[in-house]
Amino acid sequence: MDTVTILWSGGWDGTFRFLQLASKEISIQPIYVIDKNRKGTEYEKDAMAKIIDAVSAGGEKNFKATILPVKFYTVEWILENCADENISAAFRLLREKYNVGTQYEWFALLAKKLCIQMETCIVHQYHGKVEDAIDAEAILTPIHDDVLGERYQVLPKEDNDTVTLVFENLLLPSIRLTKKDEERIARENGWLDLMKLSWFCHNPDEKGSPCGLCTPCDDAMHTGLEWRLPKKAQRRNKFKYAYLLLRKAKRFLSRKAKA
Ligand SMILES: [Zn+2]
Repeated sequence: MDTVTILWSGGWDGTFRFLQLASKEISIQPIYVIDKNRKGTEYEKDAMAKIIDAVSAGGEKNFKATILPVKFYTVEWILENCADENISAAFRLLREKYNVGTQYEWFALLAKKLCIQMETCIVHQYHGKVEDAIDAEAILTPIHDDVLGERYQVLPKEDNDTVTLVFENLLLPSIRLTKKDEERIARENGWLDLMKLSWFCHNPDEKGSPCGLCTPCDDAMHTGLEWRLPKKAQRRNKFKYAYLLLRKAKRFLSRKAKA
């Protein structure tokens, strides 16, 4: 049985792919990278556990995969044990030019160190940062003769291998889909209730509600999934810059008061 490794943090896109994989006769190895700066970590782990339980219970949804226990790696461990200056130098260029998310450096270092190709669930969106980098400096191509079909990989464009250095071991199964496509396919397959268990906010408030201000909240608001945010968070998102300014001012004042 083939084993597919997937980088998954309990979010919408990763959960969608996890469910797609779960419906195949394979084993799935989920990997979760712990970033201690993210307040949503416990919510994400909780979401993953609930989704894995629901899939393992089966029911009428016809899931066939074997799910291996989630492997956890901290960012600190990766930076200390998987250092690779070629990857990191290429990543810094992509960060500078396209503001590509920091997690892709960690994923690339980990995949290289473990010698495993891993699926990372980037979806198509208007001016997606990774997509912009690939469009400008690399070639996106379906994997030849892939047993799982529909997966993409990044190849160098002429002699430019900057993007490939980072994405060499990262497979992109969802890069041609939008979040709305995922919603539609999930609905067609009867997975929408499971998708709703996914977690997406990096900085939930004290009541555990999505913040409306972080990147994944922003993505949900602008990709047709605003229903995932409570009204309060939607309002915060609309007045995002005023909220962020207010938060900065509050932090500044509380630091001053402590000094
Ligand atoms: Zn948020």
